[in-house]
Amino acid sequence: MTSISAASRVFALLGDPVEHSLSPRIQNAAILAAGVDGVYVALRAVEEDLPGFIRGLCRAGGGGNVTLPHKEKASTVVDERLPAVRRTGACNTFWLEDDRIVGDNTDVDGFSRALRDFLGEAPTNARVLLLGAGGAARAGLVALLDDGVDEIRLLNRSVERARNVSRRIGGERVRVVPDPAELDGERFDLVVNATRLGLHPDDPTPFELDRLEEVGAVVDMVYGAEPTALVRAAESMGVRATDGREMLVQQGAAAFERWWGVDAPLDAMRRALPEREGDADVG
Ligand code: NAP
Repeated sequence: MTSISAASRVFALLGDPVEHSLSPRIQNAAILAAGVDGVYVALRAVEEDLPGFIRGLCRAGGGGNVTLPHKEKASTVVDERLPAVRRTGACNTFWLEDDRIVGDNTDVDGFSRALRDFLGEAPTNARVLLLGAGGAARAGLVALLDDGVDEIRLLNRSVERARNVSRRIGGERVRVVPDPAELDGERFDLVVNATRLGLHPDDPTPFELDRLEEVGAVVDMVYGAEPTALVRAAESMGVRATDGREMLVQQGAAAFERWWGVDAPLDAMRRALPEREGDADVG
């Protein structure tokens, strides 16, 4: 078992709020399982302190993650923006390489890996309905396009925001849907929720799945102590569905690999999640 030493590398999650984050549990379990010398903490950071925290942690030999509401700001602080940061405009992972601060957005890889794990294959040629137009939706869009989906319909409460995302990332395979009624009777291989709806137990579902003629599978990026309303709705219709817990683990695993240069101990990271009734696979 490792213990913290004077040589331990320090990693931090920077955001506001951060006190409910599961990342410290997941990353410290990974550090322990991989036998590397480090520690991962969560620090509440206001925007004006972000550059200082990022530079300080990197110069001291560590790095970290960035969460709401600072992912966009972080993308302007790092010295080198990897392609996932340039394409999404958001940075959630940073570290030092050759004296330069490198920024990545592992939500892209995390979503892609979790989706592949869930479907058992890449979503190549799939027809997808993507809900949302914030940071998570941008990461999902990049991942889906790179994984070779055929077509994406983008639906968001603010249509203008969806149009901006589509202009920035989209291309020919993405079409913004201005009105949910336009989707009545359509068929999708996959529905992905990247809105915030589902964070609170009494949130409505972000989309009424029964408007659709057919749905192959549902992935909710949101997760909580209980399955989200969208996951419950899908399962009640006999549609296979999963929430954002595996994506959380996979984006953390991708960050771990950037920092430590070794494979992430995925099983230990999954076991670090709080147990949930009926979740034998992640308990
Ligand atoms: P964000 O940038 O603030 O975007 C929020 C999105 O939710 C926007 O599309 C927004 O629509 C929509 N929204 C908010 N309130 C709504 C409402 N009442 N009705 C309909 N739409 C509403 O947040 P984000 O970073 O994209 O995160 C979105 C969710 O993904 C969060 O719950 C986050 O926890 C989750 N997430 C999970 C992971 C993971 O690892 N599993 C990683 C990243 C994010 P408007 O544009 O119209 O406001």
